[in-house]
Amino acid sequence: MREARTKSWRGPKVRIAVFDTHAFERDVLINANRQFSHELVFFDSRLTSETAELAKGFSAACSFVNDRLNSACLEKLHHQNVKLLALRSAGFNHVDLATASRLGLKVVRVPHYSPHAVAEHAVALILSLNRKIHRAYQRVREMNFSLDGLVGFDLNGKTIGVIGTGQIGSVFVRIMAGFGCKVIAYDIAPNPELSQVSNFRYVDLETLYRQADVVSLHLPLRPETQHMIDEKSLAMMKAGVMLINTSRGALIDSKALIQSLKSGHIGSAGLDVYEEEEKIFFRDLSAQVMQDDILARLLTFPNVIVTAHQAFLTNEALQNIAQTTLQNAADFEAGRPLENEVCEKIHTRN
Ligand code: NAD
Repeated sequence: MREARTKSWRGPKVRIAVFDTHAFERDVLINANRQFSHELVFFDSRLTSETAELAKGFSAACSFVNDRLNSACLEKLHHQNVKLLALRSAGFNHVDLATASRLGLKVVRVPHYSPHAVAEHAVALILSLNRKIHRAYQRVREMNFSLDGLVGFDLNGKTIGVIGTGQIGSVFVRIMAGFGCKVIAYDIAPNPELSQVSNFRYVDLETLYRQADVVSLHLPLRPETQHMIDEKSLAMMKAGVMLINTSRGALIDSKALIQSLKSGHIGSAGLDVYEEEEKIFFRDLSAQVMQDDILARLLTFPNVIVTAHQAFLTNEALQNIAQTTLQNAADFEAGRPLENEVCEKIHTRN
C-alpha cells in the first residue's frame, strides 16, 4: 500500500482517504487539488469492509467503481467517523444507499464527466468489431497480409438500437446518426431533445431487439435491469446482431451470451464491462492463471472484444472526475447544498 500526500493550499480543508487509486489518475487528482486545500492520502487498496479501517482519522473516503460499498463497509466507515463518501464515478449501483442514509453518511458522485468518452468508446468497439481491426492488427504484425475473414459491412443505412438515451446514450445516438444509420431507441423516460435527430425514433423494447443490427446498452444497472439481456432477449435479436455494452456488466447474462455466440446467432460482442469484473479489472493478472471460466471463454471468441472498463478513460473525463470530486468535498466542508448527492430516489436521467 502506497501513500502520497499533497500540500494544502487554501480554502476549506478536508482530509480525504482516496481508495483504489491508479497511476492513470493520481497526478490528475494532485494537479486538480491545487485549487483546493484538501489533504489527499492515496491508498492502492480497494475500499471494502476489510480496508475501511484505513479511513480512521479522515472525514471523507473517496472510492472508485469496483469498491465494495456494502452495509458492513459503510458501518465501518461510520465507526471511523467518516462523514462523506465521495464516488469517483457516475454509477452508484455498488453502494448500499439505504445503509448510508440510516448512518447519515453523505454520498456524492460525479454525474457528468464526459459522456463523449464513453459514447466514443462504444463507437470504437463497433468499428473495431465490424472491420476486424483487432484481428488485422495481429495478422499484419506477423507479415500475414491476407484479407480473408476480414469482411465487414457498411454502417451507413444499418439500424442501431440504443437502450437508454441519457447523457451517454444521447451522444451515442447523434454519433451513429452521423454515420448515416437509422437509430431506434428505448428508454423509460424518452429524451425530447432527440426528436431533432434525423432518422431517429423511439420504439418498444421488443421492436428494438427484432430490428437492430447493433444493440448498444446505455442504461444503469438496477434490480429491474439486471440480466435484461438474457436467453429470451438474445433469441429475439436479429441473427448476426452486434451487442455492445459500455454500461454495467450485469445487464448481460454472460452465460446466455456465450451460448448465443457459440450457436452463431449473436454475430459479435464488444464488452467494456463484465459482471464479475470487480475481482479482475484494473489489475495486471498477466502472470496468473485466469480463474474466471466465463471471462476466459469470452476471450476465446474471435468476434468478441473485451476492454477492461476503460470507456471513461480520456484526459477530459479524468480532469472532470478529479475537479468535481474535490469540489464535492469542498461543498460538504463548507456546509453548502450537495449538488451531486446520491440518494435512493435517483434512478434515471437527471
Ligand atoms: P443517465 O442517467 O444519464 O442515463 C441513463 C438512461 O437510462 C436514462 O435516460 C434513463 O431513463 C434510462 N433508463 C433507466 N432505467 C431504464 C430501463 N429500465 N429501461 C430503459 N431505460 C432506462 O446515465 P449515463 O451517464 O448516460 O450513463 C449510462 C450508464 O453508463 C451508467 O449507468 C453507467 O453504468 C455507465 N457508465 C459506464 C462507464 C464506463 O467507463 N464503461 C462510464 C460512465 C458510465
